[in-house]
Amino acid sequence: LNGKVMVTGGAGYIGSHAVLALLDAGYQVVVIDNLVTGFDWAVDGRAAFVRIAVEDPGVRDVIRQHDVKAIMHFAGSVVVPESVSDPLKYYRNNTAATRTLIESAVAEGVPHFIFSSTAATYGTPERVPISENDPKVPINPYGMSKLMTEFMLRDVSAAHPMNHCCLRYFNVAGADPEGRSGQSTIGATHLIKIAVEAATGKRDSVGVFGTDFETRDGTGVRDYVHVSDLAEAHVAALKLLIDQPGESHVLNCGYGRGFSVLEVLDAVDRVTNRTIERKLQGRRPGDPGELVADNSAILKTIDWTPKRDDLEGIVRDALTWERKLAERQG
Ligand code: UDP
Repeated sequence: LNGKVMVTGGAGYIGSHAVLALLDAGYQVVVIDNLVTGFDWAVDGRAAFVRIAVEDPGVRDVIRQHDVKAIMHFAGSVVVPESVSDPLKYYRNNTAATRTLIESAVAEGVPHFIFSSTAATYGTPERVPISENDPKVPINPYGMSKLMTEFMLRDVSAAHPMNHCCLRYFNVAGADPEGRSGQSTIGATHLIKIAVEAATGKRDSVGVFGTDFETRDGTGVRDYVHVSDLAEAHVAALKLLIDQPGESHVLNCGYGRGFSVLEVLDAVDRVTNRTIERKLQGRRPGDPGELVADNSAILKTIDWTPKRDDLEGIVRDALTWERKLAERQG
């Protein structure tokens, strides 16, 4: 690539891992992040860093100054129940802010755009595993805010010299196996993060949200993907966008198998050799029962071989990072 990759949200969880994958693959990177939920220390020293919001008109200057030739857009809000109680935050941070970012990209002629989308765009699926062409009927504002962005990108790529790839993530977890980054989010709500916080004594128990879903043990089933595999998928998607300028893609990113909440907690117990206290509770607003990817499209479209499809391995990496964080925070 004849210039840099701009990573928005590069100081956050998934973004910081994408920065590592890009740098490891030899790309030059500029990170933009407003540091509302991210941390400047999470940005690898080999990347340039600019503290700015994606919707700031100054992003155009960053694109020009750093000769940005591709954007990977991770910045956004990601908590499903919060999107139910504060929908306008999600339409602002995810949909409206991204509209402005895309406008900056088009104005500066950025040719490639990769977007963090989500399995939440499908809502409650009619069947699992879910494939890309299945109905998209989000059951929460988070999923809708991301789906609206997918539509914008589709229309913009048809009208302007830009191609894009929307990666619909299933449940992202784990941490860089070399210990360079991990999930540092304050007040995290995602299951594996919560569970490793419990395993390291940061919380007393883990709530199990819903025991009456139509799943094998009644608890929610998700397709947990190692964050480093996901990060590598972005690099592979970028290569494809560069090689095939006229083509855009929407791809599920998951392993094609699911684990229930109880199975995840059992895996954490096996890794730590302890027992986390489980508190059975009612369903959380906006939660579907089962989300598992049909990943056949991504496997044949981009040059990506998942290497870390192992729940205990994901938990182990998450736990290693959690212990490091605990030391850092004293
Ligand atoms: N979950 C849970 N307890 C928690 C956090 C999550 O039982 O403390 C469940 C949640 O209801 C869902 C699954 O774990 O079935 C994954 O939720 P998470 O918030 O990690 O990701 P989401 O699928 O909502 O994006």
